[in-house]
Amino acid sequence: SNQTLQQPRRTTCPYCGVGCGVMATPQAGDREADSPPVSGDKAHPANFGRLCVKGSSLHETTGSQGQTLYPRVLGSRVSWDRALDEVAGAIREAVESHGPESVAFYLSGQLLTEDYYAANKLAKGFIGTPHVDTNSRLCMSSAVAAHKRAFGEDVVPGCYEDLELADLLVLTGSNAAWNHPVLYQRMKAADRPGRRVVVIDPRRTATAELADLHLALKPGTDTLLFNGLLVWLADTGALDRGYIEKHCQGFDEALAAARCGAFAPQQVARACDLPEQDVVTFYRWFADTARTVTAFSQGINQSSTGTDKGNAIINCHLATGRIGRSGAGPFSLTGQPNAMGGREVGGLANTLAAHMEYDTPGARERVGGFWGTDRIPRAPGHKAVELFDAVHRGEIKVLWVMGTNPAVSLPDSSHIREAMKHCPVVIVSDCIARTDTTELADILLPAEGWGEKDGTVTNSERCISRQRRFLPAAGDARADWRILAEVGKRLGHGDAFRWATAADVFREHARLSALDNDGARQFDLSSLAHLTDDQYEQLSPVQWPVNGKHPRGCARLYADGRFSTNDGRARFVAVQPRVPAAQPEQAGEVIINTGRIRDQWHTMTRTARSPRLVQHRSEPFIDLHPDDVVHLGLEAGGLARLTGRNDQGAFLGRVRAEPGQRRGEVFVPIHWNGQFSLGALASSLIVPVTDPISGQPESKYGVVSVRPV
Ligand code: SF4
Repeated sequence: SNQTLQQPRRTTCPYCGVGCGVMATPQAGDREADSPPVSGDKAHPANFGRLCVKGSSLHETTGSQGQTLYPRVLGSRVSWDRALDEVAGAIREAVESHGPESVAFYLSGQLLTEDYYAANKLAKGFIGTPHVDTNSRLCMSSAVAAHKRAFGEDVVPGCYEDLELADLLVLTGSNAAWNHPVLYQRMKAADRPGRRVVVIDPRRTATAELADLHLALKPGTDTLLFNGLLVWLADTGALDRGYIEKHCQGFDEALAAARCGAFAPQQVARACDLPEQDVVTFYRWFADTARTVTAFSQGINQSSTGTDKGNAIINCHLATGRIGRSGAGPFSLTGQPNAMGGREVGGLANTLAAHMEYDTPGARERVGGFWGTDRIPRAPGHKAVELFDAVHRGEIKVLWVMGTNPAVSLPDSSHIREAMKHCPVVIVSDCIARTDTTELADILLPAEGWGEKDGTVTNSERCISRQRRFLPAAGDARADWRILAEVGKRLGHGDAFRWATAADVFREHARLSALDNDGARQFDLSSLAHLTDDQYEQLSPVQWPVNGKHPRGCARLYADGRFSTNDGRARFVAVQPRVPAAQPEQAGEVIINTGRIRDQWHTMTRTARSPRLVQHRSEPFIDLHPDDVVHLGLEAGGLARLTGRNDQGAFLGRVRAEPGQRRGEVFVPIHWNGQFSLGALASSLIVPVTDPISGQPESKYGVVSVRPV
C-alpha cells in the first residue's frame, strides 16, 4: 500500500524524559488500519536506536478511536469559530468583571515547547494573569528550585554520557529501570570492572538489580544521609578546598547545618534505618571516586522537603568539585518528555519567561517590550495545589486545562473534582475524548496528539529534538499553539499572535531566550533564532545553550567553574533535615508510597489502548512486605482496601507479598483511575502537603489504613 512505501520520519517518543528518537512511517487516510510498527532512531543521541516497551508499542496507540474529534460546548458539537468565540468571550468577561487573575491555565509536560510558549505569552503577556502552572509541578519543580538556589539558574549541568562514564553511579529516588528504561539500559551496558552502583530507595525496585549497594532507607531521610556525607567528606579530607574557595559560596554555613543534625555514620544509620556498615561503604566510595554521578528523580522531588534534598545532593558535588566534568555531576532525571521545555518558556507559576524570573531586575519591562504588552503581572502566580485551591474558593472564573488530567493526578483528587465542578467555565484541550478531566469540561477542544503535531521537546539532558507530524489530524483537531493564537486574536491581540507555522513560534522563543542576556544565563538559543523553515524541519537534536559560544550546543555546563549567579559562584545551601510530619499511629496504619509501573504512562489515557502494555500489570495492586501481609490479616492474591485519614478516597487493589518492600510500608501505582477501574485512585489517598519552596506535593509519603476486603 501507499502507506508502507512512505519513508519513515524522525520524531521523538511522547512518554518519558529520556526523549528517545523514533522512526515512524507516515500514514494518509485511514487511521484505523494497522499502523506500521515504529522503531528506534539509530541517529538520536538519547537512545541510538533503542526503545523500551512503551516506545516500541506506540503504533498500537495511534488509532483515532477515542480521540477528541470536534470542539464541544456543553457537550454539543460546534464549529471551531463558535468554540473559540466562546473561549475568548468567557475570558473577556472574567477579566472585565473580576480582573485578569480570575483566569488560570494548567498546562502539561506533554505539550510541545511551541504550545507552552504560546500559552505562557497569552496568559502572562496579554490576559495579564500570573496563574499559569503545569503538571511539571508534580514532577520536577523541587529539582528546578534546587538548581536555581545552587547554580542561579535551572540547569542540568551534565549529559547522559556522564551516567555511562561514572565510576560511581548513585541513583537516588529513581526507579530508572521502569521509568527511564532506555537510559537505564545505557547505564547497564556501560558496566565494567570497578564501576560501582549505589541505589538509594526504600523499595528494592528493578533498578536495585544493578546495585552493588542498595540503601533501603527510611522514607523522608535523604537529607540526613547526604548531610552526613558532607560531614564525612569534610572530616576525611575528601573536600576539594581549591574548588570551594574559587567557585562557591556558603560552604561553612552548609557544613555547620549538616553538623547540627545526626551526622556520624552510626547516628545516620539509626535515623535512616540502615546498617551502619552500608552507610560507611557509601560514604567511602563517594569520597574515593572522582567520577561520581548522583542521579535523582521523583523519589527526591515529590516530597515536602524535595528542594532541600536536591540541595543536600548538590552540596556534596560542589564540595568535591564534581560538576561539569565528564562522568561527574548531580543529574536530575526529568519525568515527562517536555518537562524541561515548559521550564524553558517560563511555564511554571513562579517564573516569567525564558529562564527570567519576576524579580530578575528589568525582566518584566524587557519581556513586555519584546512581546509588545504592558499587561505582564507583577508577581508570581499560584502553584498547582494552590491554584486548584483558588478554583475551589471561587476566585478563578475561567480555568483552561491543556493536555493533562488533574482530576486524577493531583493530590486529594475529590477536592480537585469538586473545584472544577464549581468553576464557572472549565476549558479542556486534549487529544483524548474521555478522561476524568474532559468529563468536567464546559468547553472541550480537540488538540492534536502525538504523530499529528509538529514542534520541539527538550529531554533530561537539555537536548532539543523535533517531534514531527506523520499522521493526519483526527477529526478537526488543531495544534495547541494555533488554538491559543486564535484566542489571542479574538481578544484583540492579533499582532502578537501572527504565527503561521510552529517554526515561527520556535524562532520567537529562541529570540526571547537571548534577550539582554549578559552571558550569565545559560539558557540561550540565539543561534537557532533565525532558522529557515527548512532548517527547522531538518533540525537535528542539539543540547542548549546554542549560541555564539556554543554554536553546536554543549554537553556539559559549568566546566569552567563559572555559574549563572551574579558573581559567577555556586551556592552551597544550608539544609536541615525535616522528616515528614505524619506517622502511623493506629493498628492497620502504614506509610504509603506511590509511583509508576514499567508499561503504563501517567493516567493511562494513551497507554491503556495498547494490548501489549496492559499485560504487564493488568490490575491495580498493593505491594506489602510478606510479614505485613500476614499480620494485617491479608492474603497474597486477595483484595485489600486502603483508606486515607481524610476519609476522601479509597484504593482497591490486589495484594502482592513483596520482599522488596520495607515493613510497615505499602506501594501502589498511580495510573488507574475512574476510566479504568473502580476506586483505585492513588492520588485520592495523598494529602496535599507541599514543599514550601517548590510547591511540589508529597506524593511519595502519607499514612493510610489497610483492610482486607
Ligand atoms: Fe519512550 Fe522513555 Fe521508553 Fe525512550 S525510555 S522509548 S522516551 S518511554
